[in-house]
Parts: sequence; structure tokens; C-alpha cells
Amino acid sequence: MKPFQPTLFEGSKRLVYDEAVDLTLQSMQAYGPTHDHWGLAWSGGKDSSATLTLIVHLIDVGRLAPPKSLTVFYADTRQELPPLAIAAASMMEQLAARGIACEVVRAPLDKRFLVYMLGRGVPPPNNRTFRWCTRQIKVDPMADAIEARLDALDGNVLMITGVREGESAIRDERIRMSCGKDGAECGQGWYQEVLPQSKGVRGRIATLAPLLHWRVCNVWDWLRIYAPMPEYGGWATAAIADAYGGDEANEINARTGCIGCPLASQDLGLETVLKSAVWSYLAPLRGLKLIYRELREDDSKRLKKTGLEEDGTLSSGKNKQRKGPLTFAARLDALERILAIQGACNASARELGRPEIDILNPEEEARIRELIAAGTWPNGWDGDEPTADTPMDSIFRDGSVQPLLVW
Ligand code: SF4
Repeated sequence: MKPFQPTLFEGSKRLVYDEAVDLTLQSMQAYGPTHDHWGLAWSGGKDSSATLTLIVHLIDVGRLAPPKSLTVFYADTRQELPPLAIAAASMMEQLAARGIACEVVRAPLDKRFLVYMLGRGVPPPNNRTFRWCTRQIKVDPMADAIEARLDALDGNVLMITGVREGESAIRDERIRMSCGKDGAECGQGWYQEVLPQSKGVRGRIATLAPLLHWRVCNVWDWLRIYAPMPEYGGWATAAIADAYGGDEANEINARTGCIGCPLASQDLGLETVLKSAVWSYLAPLRGLKLIYRELREDDSKRLKKTGLEEDGTLSSGKNKQRKGPLTFAARLDALERILAIQGACNASARELGRPEIDILNPEEEARIRELIAAGTWPNGWDGDEPTADTPMDSIFRDGSVQPLLVW
């Protein structure tokens, strides 16, 4: 506790957005004291980093009574933008220096993004029908980590998230689970919706989004100007704002998430990072998005159901000829290319004296190779289905058949 420090609320130090901070403080003062323990779901992105540093600052300066315990859960997808991952590592050191526990939360090995895709053969996620990633690599591991922590605690827990609805916050009653609204972080809305329902924690956990009403410019000002100042905690948050585009961030308002996120139309986060000379050596990472697109769209890389059972009768289900998993050849090819991308970035990093990246480590690579060698397919697939580019009769949902046209 450092009560002599200036606060956001004093005369000349008042911020232009002090109303926003006031509302945050009021919500924390209303809900904080009724929960013995607080947890904070932190992705390393701008909104949850602003939430984390502001809450700790408010406690530091005595504006907010500290809970019995505060646990920070850092969600590490292994696919984070490198500048954000590096900033998160610095902030974790700062948290540790304050005695705040920070738990790094990762999906189990087989469920991590690249292992699930290349080892098990599940195609990259997409927006419309098949978004398996957010829940699997962010939400479920977070729910499991919180559940384990709850088991070790008595009393109720308040989970604080960085969900922000920007200017429409006060009007909006529903917290959407969107990936991109107003530059929101992928996963944060899901935490808010899903955590209280998690089995085992129901009834003992509530979620609060104390920055719900903040505008994106409030977030930038906090991360870039105030939080790094010693009197506000001296946080290593400027690098986060820089990763989103520095002075141009207000205009760009980029959402970030996994590098090469197959659901985003453009890799805006990565492109923003690459504009900075010090990060330009990461340019080979652009290749990830192309690999994911190819894995989804190139029919020679995926299997397909014929629509017929072994005895020649029509199979049940609506989408009888659905496309499915990635062939072993496609997976091994993608694995080599991703390793080459990582290798190229790291060779430049060593030459330039810059940080190396780690999106696919030896343990994950070995597991992918092991799963492929063991002939692993997703449930419902045997591997003896034809590839999706194999000419065959078309079988429609109603069971009607259009024979293959032969010229
Ligand atoms: S950022 Fe993209 S790839 Fe990563 S979890 Fe979110 S939607 Fe999935």
C-alpha cells in the first residue's frame, strides 16, 4: 500500500476520462467487498492488461480495499503476437515483485492449436460452422484453472475480465461473445458468459467487467501514458499499445488474437507489428495465414465422406458428403512449413539481437509426429475416406443423387 502516491483523482492529475475510471472504481467498490477472493482473466491484450494494471494501481493507492487473495490467470494460447507475449512476461515479473500470484494457463498438449490441427487432423477453425478454437484454447483451460484454484479456497470468488463494450456499453444489456467488436479481444466475452456456468464453480463465482464502459481511447491513454508512469505503477504496458500501432492505434483499433487467426479476414495485428522496424524480422509469420487457408480450402488436403455406408446405402445425417480432416501428407507439409517460418524468424532474431519466438516447441512437434505416426483421426473418421478432390456422385441432403458427369 502506498497512500502517498498521487492518484487518478487528484487535482492536476485528473484524467480526461476520470468519469470512466470513477465508474470502474464504483463497480469494484460495489462488488469487490462481497467476494473474499478475486481472480483476473488476463489475455495479455490491451483490454485485460488495462483492467489488470488499473485494479492493482487502485489497490496500491488505497482507493480499493484489497481482497483476501488476488490471482491473475494469464491465458497463453501459444499463438500470441510476440510483442504482446514479451510484454506479458515483463508484467508477470512486475506482478511477482508485488507478491501477486500469476498462473499461466495453457490448454493440455493435445488440445493446443497446432497439435490439435496437425496431430489430430482437425481442420483450421472458421467463422461460420466450425469455431473450435476459442473455447478449446482459451475458455476451457481458464475454467479448469479457476476451478482448481476455487478448490483451494474458502468463500466466493469474483472473476474480473477485460470485456469492454465501448461506447455502446451503457445501452447494451447483453455481453456478446464476439471476437471483434470495437477491437475487443477474442475470448474475453466468452469468459464472462461461460465461467459462472462452469461445472463445479456454479454459485461460488461471479464475473465483473469493470472496464465495460471504457472507450478504446481510454484504454490507449491508460496503457501508453499513465500506467507506465511510476506514480501509476510503472507498468510495462507501453509495449502493448505499440504492438497495436502506437500513435495510430486509435484509428486502427485492431483486434488481436492468435497470429494468423483463420477467422480474421486480415492479419491486422501482425501487419501492425511488422510496420515497426524492430519487429520487421517477424515478416515470415505472414505465411501462417496462408497455410491455414490452404489447409481449409485445398480439397486435396482433406478427406470427404462419400455419402454412402459400406453396404452402399445412403448414410444418415444432413451433410452426407461433408469435408473432414487433414491428410497425413498435408499435416506433415504444414508442420515443416511452420517450423521453417519459426526458424527463419529466429535466425533473424539471433542476427539482430532481438527476441526469438516460440509458437511450436519441441514437445509439441514431437507430439504432432507421434499422433500422425499412430494414425490419429478425429472422431467419426477412419482415414480410409477419399480426399475431397476425388470425383464422385453428388448426394444431397434430401438423399437425391446427381451422378458424376463424365465428359
Ligand atoms: S484469435 Fe482466432 S484462432 Fe485464436 S482463439 Fe480467437 S478465433 Fe481462434
